[in-house]
Amino acid sequence: MDFREDVDLDASQVEDRGSGFPGGGLMLGGGIIGIVAVIGALLLGVNPASLFSGDDARPAPPRQGTALNEQCRKGSDANQSEKCRVVGVVNSIQHYWQGVFAERGKHPYSTARTVLFSGQVSTGCGQAGSAVGPFYCPADRRAYFDLGFFDELERRFGAKGGPFAQAYVIAHEYGHHVQNLLGNMSRVGRDREGADSASVRLELQADCYAGVWAKNALDTGFYDKPFTDNDIREALDAAAAVGDDRIQERTQGRVDPEGWTHGSSQQRMTWFTTGYATGSPARCDTFSGGI
Ligand SMILES: [Zn+2]
Repeated sequence: MDFREDVDLDASQVEDRGSGFPGGGLMLGGGIIGIVAVIGALLLGVNPASLFSGDDARPAPPRQGTALNEQCRKGSDANQSEKCRVVGVVNSIQHYWQGVFAERGKHPYSTARTVLFSGQVSTGCGQAGSAVGPFYCPADRRAYFDLGFFDELERRFGAKGGPFAQAYVIAHEYGHHVQNLLGNMSRVGRDREGADSASVRLELQADCYAGVWAKNALDTGFYDKPFTDNDIREALDAAAAVGDDRIQERTQGRVDPEGWTHGSSQQRMTWFTTGYATGSPARCDTFSGGI
């Protein structure tokens, strides 16, 4: 997965909040906020209630750091550095969805920033720590990634990793942004757990949207050639690694579909594949019928 060397990157879509509060760990114990807001926004099968603290959704802090603007100007930079690669992936994903929204003509796409952090981060959904894993906060319309998570994906979750695994995770979070713009996030309501829950359906739709982007990525003009089978295998491997059954087996030693929030490994791979095979967001209707 290489970027076209001469393509312009728009680094303003990514904020680098740098070092954060190293060693701070998760701040727990405050009131639970934004459960509805964060539901479905997490990649991993963790309880959202344990992730955020604080009594109120607070506004996101002002943007910090402009270093990415200087570092990440061209596709060639994205081929060299991990942070610039994130910029390139985010640019391609948003370029794709912008086009889809424009074609439909109902409402315009609004750009969502990605925030890179390490340790702790203050978000419109409250304070969050690295343990959260990547997430999307509907309240401030930002996707949050601790780049360390991707090592974690390999170490703790046994994924093969690789640049395309990372691209899948980013595209999944932007899937949530699309759902937020389309109003699908509110479909979850209280139906937050269980193999057939709205939460699982929302997550699988985000996986499907990630596959749809992958299929259309070449047309966004950011990449120099189509993704390879190996790229797609990396995405599927990452999707499988974060399946609820796989995580439960590892953490509890047994599988309990009643507790699923994101879907099984098989379901996550299946829906990514549906998106990738069809390239059509309309085929990502996970809310009606079997999943
Ligand atoms: Zn998710």
